[in-house]
Amino acid sequence: MDLTFDPSQGERFKGGTQRIKNLSEHWLSREMYCPSCGAGSLRRYGNNKPVADCYCDKCQADFELKSHRQMFGASVVDGAYATMIERLSSSRNPHLFLLHYSPALHAVVNLMVVPKYFFVPDMIMKRPPLAATARRAGWVGCRILAGDNTGGRKDISGPQRYRENQNGCAQRMAANSLPP
Ligand SMILES: [Zn+2]
Repeated sequence: MDLTFDPSQGERFKGGTQRIKNLSEHWLSREMYCPSCGAGSLRRYGNNKPVADCYCDKCQADFELKSHRQMFGASVVDGAYATMIERLSSSRNPHLFLLHYSPALHAVVNLMVVPKYFFVPDMIMKRPPLAATARRAGWVGCRILAGDNTGGRKDISGPQRYRENQNGCAQRMAANSLPP
């Protein structure tokens, strides 16, 4: 398994957020199997999907990916609150990947998954509306309460464990599978 990002995937982005989003989604689709059914790879959605970033061709599971340069704490800042609640309340609610990367190494440090039955509206906290002076005045964002207290955060792999688990991943996942 290659834990490094492909630098060519970040070249056309000036902004750090869009750049990391593209680098990490590309890495996930290149290296990660489906933790729901064990299929060998995941596919990326285009930018038209408001919450889900990747999906599995085989079992149709959807995945949201949040990437951060530091270890994840109790909560993660995310996008529009209403959009997130709508998505998590739908019949196609996604699983959540939490990807911790190193800017210095340009590589993945750790990857965790929150199964979709824990990634529910109760995990979403509404943020205060943006001030009247802001460009998007009144806009309401959210935080994902993704701390260990959800009980659902599953450490797929630090890099070392990842390598150890590569053989027979489909069998391991079938025994410990997430619903599609
Ligand atoms: Zn699958």
